Amino acid sequence: MNSSQKSGLFRQLPSVDDLVRDTALAPIAASYGHEALTNAARAVLARLRQEITSGLLDDAALQLAVAGLPGAVEAQLRRALSYSLKPVINATGVILHTNLGRAPISEIAIDHIKQTAQTYSNLEFNLTAGERGKRDVHVDRLFRHLLNEDTQQQLHEDSKNESRVSTIVVNNNAAAVLLALNALADGGEVIVSRGELVEIGGSFRIPDVMAKSGAILHEVGTTNRTRIADYEKAINERTRLLLRVHRSNFEITGFTQQATTQELVELSRANNIPLMEDLGSGALVDLRSFGIAGESTVLDSLRAGVDIVTYSGDKLLGGPQAGLISGNANLVARMRSNSLFRALRVDKLTYAALEATLLAYVRHDYDAIPALRMMQLTKESIGGRAQALAKKLTSPKLKLGIVDGESLLGGGAAPSAVLPTQVLAITCEDLSADDLAALLRTSEPPIIARVEEGRVLLDLRTVFPAQDDALAAALARIVS
Ligand SMILES: *Cc1c(COP(=O)(O)O)cnc(C)c1O
Repeated sequence: MNSSQKSGLFRQLPSVDDLVRDTALAPIAASYGHEALTNAARAVLARLRQEITSGLLDDAALQLAVAGLPGAVEAQLRRALSYSLKPVINATGVILHTNLGRAPISEIAIDHIKQTAQTYSNLEFNLTAGERGKRDVHVDRLFRHLLNEDTQQQLHEDSKNESRVSTIVVNNNAAAVLLALNALADGGEVIVSRGELVEIGGSFRIPDVMAKSGAILHEVGTTNRTRIADYEKAINERTRLLLRVHRSNFEITGFTQQATTQELVELSRANNIPLMEDLGSGALVDLRSFGIAGESTVLDSLRAGVDIVTYSGDKLLGGPQAGLISGNANLVARMRSNSLFRALRVDKLTYAALEATLLAYVRHDYDAIPALRMMQLTKESIGGRAQALAKKLTSPKLKLGIVDGESLLGGGAAPSAVLPTQVLAITCEDLSADDLAALLRTSEPPIIARVEEGRVLLDLRTVFPAQDDALAAALARIVS
């Protein structure tokens, strides 16, 4: 198409003013206002001009587009004014899916957020004394209860505090590690095994965080083998901290060796150098009863004698995004008085969600926490729901089967921890599995599924039962 043909097409476009005055858009102008309407009209016309410039439109196509302008403006306006962040149905079976927001927040936590956040609260106000208080008291008391119960004896005897474990909250576990390293080891050395210099999803790298904290990384051992003697040889007068990092999202198998926690505790005590563990996931209850092995709890680490444990609020704990630092009260006090703590602190919404989640733990009401509830679902109950879903899908275009599969904990939890499940496997006559998955992603609400061996797999473990009908309806719409 030559440039004079293109100018001919440009001349057929109405001006922004003319388009806004189109009678078809009058009701839109009334409900959204002139300014929003003008912006939408401008955006739609700009898009059309771009398409003409690129030679995408011929005369006939342009006439169609011009006739559809009021509709396009309305759609543009609705898109611009609707939420971008929205609920999706997670049918991947990955319980703590970082891209999908990790742990869903429990209903009790939502209620508590709503009650305390839409009015004033005693966030930092001591009601008895009538003076300024600390925001951590609301959750520290619960962490003390959950983590202190029977650790008193095992903790350092030199601490005279009545309660020897305390906990502070920052924005996420990356912030927790940064703060802890800065408070305990700024300008000094931190000894870490080369086998634990991990990158966790979302570019969290221990060497980088270490550098930002002002601490100097002293690597010991090799990727596959680090002995306690390697740590011992590395200790010098500049050593401030021994650090163990949970490998979280990978395993090293074969010819391997790792110092045991017990050995590290003994070395730390003998040299009077604190031992910190970046646990990552930080389970508060023993998950073995949920069929998950290999994931030690925060209490396990404290009991073993680790001085400081850092972990996330939205992984196995099942609460809001947060970074928790639990351990020796004297060391935690040093972090609380560090100016980074002020910069990394969390808001009242997080405290409310965390307090409600921790109270569920105190009550042993694990079903109240969605991530823990999902872990406990049996393969049979998930399979039953998949059967019921399949029965609702009557289109002859769909081939459905219930097959055994595995759900994942995700979120950098025990890398090999899988839960047996049954998934609904779908193939569609006139769509590839990738195309069907793409249509599911763009349906309302969006549905995220796995694709394996040419089939779309839906694992209902991570689908809330109340979403089963929406899932069936979306599939029916796609194939209709
Ligand atoms: C997940 C994880 C982190 C990062 O935690 P965020 O809460 O995402 O900042 C750090 N260390 C380990 C070992 C982890 O598993």
